[in-house]
Amino acid sequence: FRHGEASEVAVETPNGTVYFGQHHPVVVVAGPCSVENEAMIVETAQRVQAAGATFLRGGAYKPRTSPYAFQGHGESALELLAAARQASGLGIITEVMDAADLDKIAEIADVIQVGARNMQNFSLLKKVGAQPKPVLLKRGMSATIEEWLMAAEYILAAGNPNVILCERGIRTFDRQYARNTLDLAVIPVLRSLTHLPIMIDPSHGTGKAEYVPAMSLAAVAAGTDSLMIEVHPNPAKALSDGPQSLTPERFDRLMQELSVIGKAV
Ligand code: PEP
Ligand code: MN
Repeated sequence: FRHGEASEVAVETPNGTVYFGQHHPVVVVAGPCSVENEAMIVETAQRVQAAGATFLRGGAYKPRTSPYAFQGHGESALELLAAARQASGLGIITEVMDAADLDKIAEIADVIQVGARNMQNFSLLKKVGAQPKPVLLKRGMSATIEEWLMAAEYILAAGNPNVILCERGIRTFDRQYARNTLDLAVIPVLRSLTHLPIMIDPSHGTGKAEYVPAMSLAAVAAGTDSLMIEVHPNPAKALSDGPQSLTPERFDRLMQELSVIGKAV
């Protein structure tokens, strides 16, 4: 692993440069699990922007457990993300699942997400490492920290220094109350092992909207550089991950709570 100074990842968004890193305010990435239609993605973008988020998330290509579940609108969702970027000024983060889609995703995304299920898809890691857009690398649901850092190393070694590490919960023995176990201990652990910026995703980390605010506050208190939070205008009707999605109103309140903790926006 590389040691030394904390690195920062600078991303140009329509509203200005956003910096991910230890010496900058916490960056909040918010938005729905999936891009469903133009009205919902634009509305969500505007509402999370008004609340203080600087990035919009939203899946166009979705890694669903069941092949019969909603798979994302694909290329047409990328156009909707571009429209939401334009309407809100937010940077865009969206997932690549297949290297064949990388060029068209990189055209509209400001940061490219590699999901938990692809953390050790080494050919995909080499390809996102060989292009210039920053990469958000989610921790595999059963990945050790060393495996995660080595996956990041694939991207760095391919020539892309702009990698952000995202903890999104791991598999443990109890899935009755929470979807995953959010491993917040990675924050000090990663600080001691790597210079790369850290993101915490309490939405996938817990799977329940009611647990998300507490874990967001805890992550900021523990020193995370950024948060990823799922927000949907009508969680009960969401095509994916509704139970873990905050309403825009609850998100707005969370942003106010976070500003009290310290390093937050
Ligand atoms: C997501 O961010 O929507 C997602 C699918 O996350 P993960 O890869 O962490 O499951
Ligand atoms: Mn999701």
